[in-house]
Amino acid sequence: MRADVSQRSPEEACGMLGGRIEGGAYETLLVIPATNMLHSPARYRIDPQEQLAAFMTFEAQGLELVGIYHSHPQGPAYPSPTDIAEAYYPEVIYLIWVKQGDKWSCSGFTIRAGRVQTAVLDMVESGV
Ligand SMILES: [Zn+2]
Repeated sequence: MRADVSQRSPEEACGMLGGRIEGGAYETLLVIPATNMLHSPARYRIDPQEQLAAFMTFEAQGLELVGIYHSHPQGPAYPSPTDIAEAYYPEVIYLIWVKQGDKWSCSGFTIRAGRVQTAVLDMVESGV
C-alpha cells in the first residue's frame, strides 16, 4: 500500500483489502489497488468494475472485504466529510494514508452511520 500511495501521489490512491475478521480482529491477506476514477488530489472513487472484480477475487479465495484504503497526499489523517458521506461499508476499516515530510503513515477508522471511530492498527512491513 505504501508504494501504491507514494507512486500515485499527488493524486489520491485507493484500493481494497481482503482478509478475515475473527473476534473483532481484522487480518489483511490481500491488497488490491484500484483506479481512482476521479484522478483527484482531494477525492477518490473506486472504479466500480475493479471493485466488483476485487469482490470476486476475495470470494474465490475465501476472503472478505476487511478494509478500504485511500490516501490524503495533502492530509489530514482523518476522513473528509465526503469520505464519511460515501462510507458504504460499516463493517470495514477505512485506512487513510497521509504524507508527512517524505514519509507516509496510515491511520484506521470505522465509519458507521456518519460516526467516525479510530481503529487500532498493527502494521507489518510486507512490501504490499
Ligand atoms: Zn479521503
